[in-house]
Amino acid sequence: MKDKFFYECVDCGKTYDSSQIKYLCTDCEKQNDKNNPPKGVLKTVYNYNELNLKYKQNIYEHLVKSGFIDLLPIKSFESFPFLKVGNTPLYKVSSIDNNDFDFELYIKDDSQNPTFSFKDRASAVVSAFAKENNIDTIVAASTGNAGSSLAGICAAQKQKAIIFVPAAAPKAKLTQIMMYGAQLVPVDGTYDNAFDMSIEATKKHGWYNRNTAFNPLTIEGKKTVSFELFAQLNKNLPDRIFVPVGDGVIISGVYKGFEDLLNLGIIDKIPVIVAVQAIGSSNIINNINSDKFISTPSNTLADSISVDIPRNFNMAKKYIKENFGETILVSDEEIIAASKVLSSRTGIFAEPAASAAFAGFLSYYWDGKFNKGSKNVVLLTGSGLKDLNAVQKIIDIPDPIKPDSKF
Ligand SMILES: [Zn+2]
Repeated sequence: MKDKFFYECVDCGKTYDSSQIKYLCTDCEKQNDKNNPPKGVLKTVYNYNELNLKYKQNIYEHLVKSGFIDLLPIKSFESFPFLKVGNTPLYKVSSIDNNDFDFELYIKDDSQNPTFSFKDRASAVVSAFAKENNIDTIVAASTGNAGSSLAGICAAQKQKAIIFVPAAAPKAKLTQIMMYGAQLVPVDGTYDNAFDMSIEATKKHGWYNRNTAFNPLTIEGKKTVSFELFAQLNKNLPDRIFVPVGDGVIISGVYKGFEDLLNLGIIDKIPVIVAVQAIGSSNIINNINSDKFISTPSNTLADSISVDIPRNFNMAKKYIKENFGETILVSDEEIIAASKVLSSRTGIFAEPAASAAFAGFLSYYWDGKFNKGSKNVVLLTGSGLKDLNAVQKIIDIPDPIKPDSKF
């Protein structure tokens, strides 16, 4: 039987079959150095023509009925954790001040995943794949969310997780990793140091590696959000989707989901995706139009999107350029202010990286950029409870009063 999917190198186009575990393109990997985003990240490609021939005009109904299994790199849903991953709420918000919008705003709340972040989508697919291939130890480097996610999903799947994190990651994320019973390896250094150590450990011990922009299957998990958006909007495409961007993996996942649907003829275009980066960590947007990559050291309170060398730069750049994506930078002050507006006007408390996407939306809104009747989505990728420190400076918890005081 022909394999369900194969891999294609984003940079050179070389293809690899899926009969064995594959990370980066063998040829492009050799050219990688520490000062540039890695080459050779692989895209997972399915037999779209075959699927179309088989299901013809019923293809979308078939996919929905079968939970999109034909577009996932796993054999059976039984391999997934019992926890509810994905299918998160899409809330319609009609106003954030005293005026009703004349366009539509939808909030995709991915903090409702089991470990409170979008990353569970990727962890679930990687964990399921490991299970189907009889692998019981999965390793990851993480700025916090991917690690806490893998730890939680592995706990549910009776797998062992080993997580390398920069020691400065927010305490809530480190606490989650420990509580889920994973082996935590704090590294006195950056995410890049943690990443390199995790790759070394993978090679040495033969573990399975979940690192994003290294393991191609993480994007396959992340893309499921696009399938959901299309279904939740009653088979309509949004006009714009605001996505927080750090190393470029989530945004590539969002594009990939729509690209799969496009390849099957289910949709006829890819929606406009707005890449939102923090001014203090803008290495994708800054380099998107140049041939030579120049990294500026990152400095933003939005730790989940704080990246010096975006590991999925090449794929993200290609997607954004080919699909006429838009970009916007937001300051840390705008991110925190947006977090407060979102929390106080909708009851949804998001972490700074996620609030960055909402800050991008607000900037468009104040500039009057939304067409009447247009559908706009903001992707919230993590819960505000994961990083309480970030918002401490804008709140002032009142001093306690005596129990017998008059109130
Ligand atoms: Zn290649």
